[in-house]
Amino acid sequence: MLSSHVHVNHRDLIPYLNDTQFEFRDSVNRFLENHANPEYIRECDENKAFPKQLIDAVAEQGWFAVSLPEEYGGIGGHMDMIAMLEILGYHSVALSRYWNMNVNMIGGAIALFASEDIKQMTLPGLAEGKTFFAFALSENGSGSDAASLKTKGRIEGEELVINGTKNWITGALQADYILTACRTQVGESKHDGISLVLIPADTPGVSISPIDMLGGHAIRTCEVNLVDVRVPKTYLVGDLHQGWKQVMSVLSKERIALGAMCVGAAQAAYDLSANYAMDRHQFGRSITKFQAVSHKLVDMQTSIEASRLLVFRAAKLLEEGIPCSREASQAKYFASDTYMKVATDGLQVMGANGYCTEYAMERHFREAKLFQIFGGTNEIQRNIIAGDLFSGA
Ligand SMILES: Cc1cc2nc3c(=O)[nH]c(=O)nc-3n(C[C@H](O)[C@H](O)[C@H](O)COP(=O)(O)OP(=O)(O)OC[C@H]3O[C@@H](n4cnc5c(N)ncnc54)[C@H](O)[C@@H]3O)c2cc1C
Repeated sequence: MLSSHVHVNHRDLIPYLNDTQFEFRDSVNRFLENHANPEYIRECDENKAFPKQLIDAVAEQGWFAVSLPEEYGGIGGHMDMIAMLEILGYHSVALSRYWNMNVNMIGGAIALFASEDIKQMTLPGLAEGKTFFAFALSENGSGSDAASLKTKGRIEGEELVINGTKNWITGALQADYILTACRTQVGESKHDGISLVLIPADTPGVSISPIDMLGGHAIRTCEVNLVDVRVPKTYLVGDLHQGWKQVMSVLSKERIALGAMCVGAAQAAYDLSANYAMDRHQFGRSITKFQAVSHKLVDMQTSIEASRLLVFRAAKLLEEGIPCSREASQAKYFASDTYMKVATDGLQVMGANGYCTEYAMERHFREAKLFQIFGGTNEIQRNIIAGDLFSGA
């Protein structure tokens, strides 16, 4: 099913991907058609079980290395990553989220800011899909206003001692290291004095408790409690007190990636409902013969294609080093709103079967919602775009 869409998308994506990147995108798709078993993915969600078999299969292909620097085992570049993330999102939202958090977000930040020793300690293992991370920024009192975080880090000799509670930390149960934002200095502004530190998850004083959520069950989201956690000062990622600037500098990359995952996942939800609608007969004909149904499907596919173009446009700008904060926010909010709308309308097209756990549609309905919330809520994305559009007012 996807193969026909991927074919169509080849034509759409000609301005953005070269032949090698197209071929890579297709090869990821061919592999996942055989290895991302829909029944296994359903069971992982239902049982809140980490999809280790699928993660290991992708790791064996060497795809945890995509976009990492070559000297640490990396391969491919930014456009390969975006093209791949769309396909990962098509086959498994859990896989795409896990990959993105580990490689794009944390691997990317380590590659940019960490010391050579930290890079050597973490990146080759990540490239092989054997070393995993979680990112701990949010707290109970600081979500959208992340810079108001309260977790404290104090220097004691050669160590950093961290105390605080982080909330909504995805993948903490599997993480070898938790990249944690903490306040190391009270500066004039809340943005000053934040530092990023890599905490080995088995350090004494770290405790991790999963939180029950509406969706995203295969990769649990957790509370991480830090009580007198001691790590060597050398585990700082980037400069002391400069963490906020570092986080800000990688946000566009993160937002474009989330957009790509939503495009793939929305395409999967569309394909499911369109195929269902073609087979489903009521009143003696396929329900696609009712305009109320076919127009829904047309709007769904059109919004997905518009999202795809926004995502790849932003990705190309980023690759060429052109500032694209507005375009990245547009891609993130439009693609995730599209995914939510496609999941909602796709479920309606499938009637009771859409609401039933036998089909993936109800999972899309639950997964889509989280993309409107994390990675900067869609309200925050619109604020960023408004700030750019009306900067002269
Ligand atoms: C499934 C899931 C996984 C997550 N994983 C991680 C993770 O791995 N690591 C991590 O650090 N965090 C993670 N988060 C947290 C996520 O980043 C935050 O939920 C997000 O930043 C929003 O913060 P909040 O939930 O506290 O909402 P709030 O900031 O309290 O916002 C509540 C509402 O107010 C709106 N709002 C707030 N400020 C403004 C404003 N200035 N203008 C307009 N509207 C505004 C928001 O858009 C939202 O609708 C995860 C969240 C979820 C749901």
